[in-house]
Amino acid sequence: MPNVAIIGAGQAGLLVAHDLVRNGFDVTLFSDKTPGDFLTKARPTGTAARFNMSLDYERELGLNFWEDDAPKGEGIHLTFSPDVGNRLLTLCGRLTNYFHAIDLRLQSARWMEELEKRGGKVVIEVVTVDRLDQIAADHDLTIVAAGRGDIHKLFERDEARSHYTKPQRKLAMFNTNGQAMGFEGIDYLPVKFNFYAKAGEAFWVPWYHKDKGKSWSMLFEAKEGGPLDKFDGVTDGEQGVEVAKQVVKEVAPWDYEWCKDMQLLDENSWLVGRFTPEVRKPYATLPSGRTVLSVGDTAMSLDPIGGQGANNGNKMARNLAKSIIARGDGPFDAAWAAETFEAFWQRHNLINKFNNTLLEPITNPGKALLIAQYGSTGRAGDRSGAQKIANLFCDNFDDPATLTEAFYDMKKAKAVIAEATGKPAWKADLAGKLAIAKGQILQKLGRNPHHPGTVM
Ligand SMILES: Cc1cc2nc3c(=O)[nH]c(=O)nc-3n(C[C@H](O)[C@H](O)[C@H](O)COP(=O)(O)OP(=O)(O)OC[C@H]3O[C@@H](n4cnc5c(N)ncnc54)[C@H](O)[C@@H]3O)c2cc1C
Repeated sequence: MPNVAIIGAGQAGLLVAHDLVRNGFDVTLFSDKTPGDFLTKARPTGTAARFNMSLDYERELGLNFWEDDAPKGEGIHLTFSPDVGNRLLTLCGRLTNYFHAIDLRLQSARWMEELEKRGGKVVIEVVTVDRLDQIAADHDLTIVAAGRGDIHKLFERDEARSHYTKPQRKLAMFNTNGQAMGFEGIDYLPVKFNFYAKAGEAFWVPWYHKDKGKSWSMLFEAKEGGPLDKFDGVTDGEQGVEVAKQVVKEVAPWDYEWCKDMQLLDENSWLVGRFTPEVRKPYATLPSGRTVLSVGDTAMSLDPIGGQGANNGNKMARNLAKSIIARGDGPFDAAWAAETFEAFWQRHNLINKFNNTLLEPITNPGKALLIAQYGSTGRAGDRSGAQKIANLFCDNFDDPATLTEAFYDMKKAKAVIAEATGKPAWKADLAGKLAIAKGQILQKLGRNPHHPGTVM
């Protein structure tokens, strides 16, 4: 069997490593961190909420060690505000299957140990470009899964598939506990999404911390200069959490009471930064002329807005492992690498499109869907058309092929609405608009707009 080197012990590299070991390949994983380093010194590279298609791959590989203990995210509660202070509508949707967001440090540590138990080799080393060339010489196939670590720059940007040349949001993530595992007025455990057309987004994700278990990952996606853009001067996580509380108080006062006592889970459990969403070429040629492949964030970086980066990496890892196994003894050349990525892209390019959709102003078909779903409650017994549309919106995070095209095509959006409601789309549009107008009037009068899934 060919011998394979994988650089990077994040989730993308480890998934490929496990799948190849399971299929009899001789695998060596190079990691800049030991399992102990992950647990005591590292930052989580993201929240990494993963939906069912991704989780299924982890289950298939026997890596779902936290299935029973981690909080089960059951859907999304979204509040859409044209501007801070004006709640226009809510969406209360349920996923067909739950999601998990596991502390990536715990996951990498455990998956590395498990890889060795199952016959893989683990080498602790920071791999430089020179060293990568030596590793490539010693292996039949070398895969770079180093996230956005410096070495990713070996892989050329794919201009045709990359939409952005600069970061779209300023990001801040604080992982905390002290909040209840749920919200008043909502009878399922959701991601709480607050969308502001002008300011950016803020969302809270049920999370599983390496030591403290059930908890929350609080994420801020700030547009420059707006009310969410408050984290520039943050130099430690506790200070960041205090700033986060003030931001929530200002932009999402309905969630302030819920999170006012939250505390950072550990000193490394936070991130502040920005990066450019980008698609890169799936292979690079080293100075020696040898070819190396990319997977996960090394191949594509997605803004966290849609919770898609780790899901994308997971689906890419599955596609890559399948193609390697089918290729058997190789050769693992550039033409095969390009073909392999193309198979992934053909099936999953809507991940990138959906994620970019969320970064941009809402489209007209998107507005029509949001209006038609208004009134969804997320309650277990809600069988309304509005609920069906809200649920489809949630399932689109699992597989963006579900609804993404309808965000760009009014005919498709109307067809989705008509099928869900059993009525012509204009009727759902009118009913949604009337209900939204009522909420706006109540709000103007200083009264509770009674949006579904809210208590104030
Ligand atoms: C704030 C935030 C929130 C997010 N939320 C979500 C979400 O909810 N859902 C979702 O799907 N995605 C989310 N993402 C994206 C997700 O976290 C990433 O896509 C995913 O973790 C990337 O995994 P990876 O294995 O490709 O890379 P990484 O997790 O970065 O792993 C790469 C590993 O390689 C190591 N490495 C780097 N260079 C070298 C080297 N030279 N030698 C050896 N080792 C090296 C790194 O230290 C690291 O351990 C989020 C991202 C951010 C920033």
